[in-house]
Amino acid sequence: MTQAASETFASRVKTIIRDVPDFPKKGIVFKDITPLLADPAAFAELVRHFADHFRGAGITKVLGIEARGFLLAAPIAVELQAGLVPVRKKGKLPYKAVRASYALEYGEDTLEMHEDAVKPGEKVLVVDDVLATGGTAGAVCSLVEKLGGKVAGVAMLIELGFLNGRQKLAGRDIYSLIKY
Ligand code: AMP
Repeated sequence: MTQAASETFASRVKTIIRDVPDFPKKGIVFKDITPLLADPAAFAELVRHFADHFRGAGITKVLGIEARGFLLAAPIAVELQAGLVPVRKKGKLPYKAVRASYALEYGEDTLEMHEDAVKPGEKVLVVDDVLATGGTAGAVCSLVEKLGGKVAGVAMLIELGFLNGRQKLAGRDIYSLIKY
C-alpha cells in the first residue's frame, strides 16, 4: 500500500472505531473496536495491512495481549504464516509460565506467557488494540526477551500519542495505524 492509500485507509478506520466517553470510568474515552471487527471488508483489509507491514521481517510468532489483542493477533498470525501466542492475565494459563508485572494508575497488574511459547532467537510480533502508557506492551516485550526471543515489531491499531507509550518501548519497531 502506498503512503497515500495507507492514510486513506487509516482515516476510514478512524470513522469506524467508536469513542465511548467515561468508560470504564469517568474521564477515559474508550476506543471501541467492535464496529471494526464487525465490518468484514475493513477487518480483512486491516489484517492484510498489518501483515504487509511486517512481511519479510522473519516473524515466526505473533503475540496477542488479552483480550482484544487476541482478536487482531490471530488473523495476522495466519496471514504471516506464523504461530499465535496468547499473553494472558495472571492465573489463566494451564502450563508453566513466565510473568511480568507493570504499573497501573493504581496498583499493578501481571501478564503471563507459557515458558515454551517463544524459543531463543525467535522473532516475535507483539499485537494489541491500543497503545496508551506503554506499560502493558513493555511488560510483554520484557517477557519475550526473558525467553531469549527478539521483538521484531510492535503492532498497535491505535496509539494515544499524548500518553508517550513509545518511551517505554524504546528501541522497538512500533507501528500504529491510527494516532491521536
Ligand atoms: P497501557 O498499558 O497504558 O499502554 O494500556 C494498554 C492497554 O489498555 C491495552 O490492552 C488497551 O486495550 C487498554 N486501553 C488503554 N487505554 C484504552 C482506551 N482509551 N480505549 C481502549 N482500550 C484502552
